[in-house]
Amino acid sequence: MPLRFNTCPYCNQRIVFKIDEKDVNTSQYPAPVYIHHTSDSCGKTSTFYVDSLLRVSYKELEKKPGGTKTLKTID
Ligand SMILES: [Zn+2]
Repeated sequence: MPLRFNTCPYCNQRIVFKIDEKDVNTSQYPAPVYIHHTSDSCGKTSTFYVDSLLRVSYKELEKKPGGTKTLKTID
């Protein structure tokens, strides 16, 4: 399960999450997945779009339609 290092679009803190193909709708890329930043000081959920290699293409502040899962950050 690949680990992804990125930043939260709300607070710009570094985040880490694990993502797997089963976490996204593989019929369409970039595929949205919701990322819940579990930091006490943030706690916001945003939408990350990943390509077929599960690399983050771009992200949106809001929870956009089309995602199937919410992943919690692990760091
Ligand atoms: Zn955050």
